[in-house]
Amino acid sequence: MNSVLKVLPSNCDCEKCSNMCKAPCCGTPEDFRNLIDNGFGNRLMIDDWLDEPPMLKPAMKGSESRKAPWETRTEKGCTFWHNGKCDLHNSGLKPTQGKLALHAQSEEECDYIREIIVNSWETEDADTIIEEWTKNFYSTKYSEMEKDEV
Ligand code: SF4
Repeated sequence: MNSVLKVLPSNCDCEKCSNMCKAPCCGTPEDFRNLIDNGFGNRLMIDDWLDEPPMLKPAMKGSESRKAPWETRTEKGCTFWHNGKCDLHNSGLKPTQGKLALHAQSEEECDYIREIIVNSWETEDADTIIEEWTKNFYSTKYSEMEKDEV
């Protein structure tokens, strides 16, 4: 059980749980440090659209090493989502929100988990991870295109 959140990790693969992966889950900076250290840096994207601290997320398919698309949910879903399942499930590397997500969670529980995750990106460590990821994995080719689109 997660000591802060007091909820059990879920391994449910019902349709509702699986469909959550049409949008990327969120995690703490530590989750993303682990993903980068395990060779998944080029499968992430940066989400800085909202009025929240910028954060790394598992990329939507087609947005690897890019800025998160405006559309947060697509039929193709997350880069780690294949045949309705998460490739990271057995690796221990699934971001915290994905690890704890369960169809039966109340809106209040979902909000609580999300708030803890969002707050975890308001730290110096988070800034450092984003800076390192941007330097090593963010595609400048795409960032130039995105600048032109604005
Ligand atoms: S990382 Fe895994 S749990 Fe999270 S959205 Fe992607 S497929 Fe789903």
